[in-house]
Amino acid sequence: MPQWVLNCQHCHKLFTCDEIDLASWAAYDPLWPPKPDFPEGGLRMACPNCKKGSTYQRYELMYTDYQPAQKFRQSRRLPDR
Ligand SMILES: [Zn+2]
Repeated sequence: MPQWVLNCQHCHKLFTCDEIDLASWAAYDPLWPPKPDFPEGGLRMACPNCKKGSTYQRYELMYTDYQPAQKFRQSRRLPDR
């Protein structure tokens, strides 16, 4: 499963931000998957490795193809405030 991942600002490990919806990808653009929407000012995410919260911007998302040997822990979304 292809995913969007973020690089933790504290421990610099990659974690999953969002899995890419293959159905909407195909309907949208066959060359590049649509990025998830981020709120204005950034998205608050808690790193599953070090548990620290940070605000991430949409441009920080990195695309990765799912590989069985490389499993990212699912992140937890923090409330906006
Ligand atoms: Zn971290």
